[in-house]
Amino acid sequence: MSAINLAIVGVGKIVRDQHLPSIAKNPDFNLVATASRHGTVEGIAAYKSIDEMLDAEPSIDAVSLCMPPQYRYEAAYKALAAGKHVFLEKPPGATLSEVADLEALAAKQGASLFASWHSRYAPAVEATKAFLASTKINSVHVIWKEDVRHWHPNQEWIWQAGGLGVFDPGINALSIVTHILPKAIFLTGGTLEFPENRDSPIAADLHFRNVDYVPVHAEFDWRQTGKQSWDIIAETETGQMILSEGGAKLSINGELKFSEPEQEYPSLYKRFAEIIKAGTSDVDLSPLRHVADAFMLGKRKFVDAFYD
Ligand code: NAP
Repeated sequence: MSAINLAIVGVGKIVRDQHLPSIAKNPDFNLVATASRHGTVEGIAAYKSIDEMLDAEPSIDAVSLCMPPQYRYEAAYKALAAGKHVFLEKPPGATLSEVADLEALAAKQGASLFASWHSRYAPAVEATKAFLASTKINSVHVIWKEDVRHWHPNQEWIWQAGGLGVFDPGINALSIVTHILPKAIFLTGGTLEFPENRDSPIAADLHFRNVDYVPVHAEFDWRQTGKQSWDIIAETETGQMILSEGGAKLSINGELKFSEPEQEYPSLYKRFAEIIKAGTSDVDLSPLRHVADAFMLGKRKFVDAFYD
């Protein structure tokens, strides 16, 4: 198969930090165009809108959609309708229903749809999944606390409805949890803290369980300064397991078992090429479903206004 002609829509932070370097190193992809109102990539044909780009560049095979989630459905629908394969940045959309509609369209068009979850490709995630499958889990504690001013300075969309607020990083934790636990979990209760001047939460405290009543407690907070926390801790029959640094390191009973360099986005593009070649899609909505459940079941608390 010759290289896949790829286009990017929404040239912003994650495109520059991760997509461009990963695509440049992957011989399966050939970046041919971008569509972005302001962003461009040096040496690559640039258009202001996806309509303009799809009209002008019929050789495009696949499109990576990297704009904020509230604006992704429209572009995804247009790309799939034009017969292109589609890579959705996380979260795959602003609602479950719009992504279900895209899945149906991809199937009808015979195009591949990829709902990417980059944290699932963190280095120690697979080793953690294998460990948890080999033991009895007693409880799980997820601590995902970071400084929003450092990671999302002046990103207005993230605070608007559909931007997910603290669930923008929290959904990364949920994408790992739903991948590594042997049994499905579901929310039993929680509290979401909304700054009084924002439409999305700054913190969430969530309680889940599985069919065997194994408790999973998740704490997401955007007000953490100093050391940042992206840890999943499981108490098991074999002892304490800690998956730390966002999935980079696995320790069991204090002993480091797995730590390798981060390769999340190169792995995502490897997977995207795989599903295109296989003629399939990869859309797991379970992380987004848990977020939707939190908005349905969580108690709301209003806290101090947030200003960048
Ligand atoms: P961003 O830089 O704020 O936005 C990406 C680009 O989307 C912008 O540069 C903008 O390009 C376009 N855009 C913004 N508002 C738009 C609108 N109303 N309509 C159409 N296009 C719009 O955000 P980002 O940090 O790259 O995040 C984008 C997505 O990647 C999010 O879903 C996020 O969760 C995910 N992600 C981000 C990170 C990270 O570290 N930042 C990590 C992993 C995943 P133009 O103005 O040129 O159109």
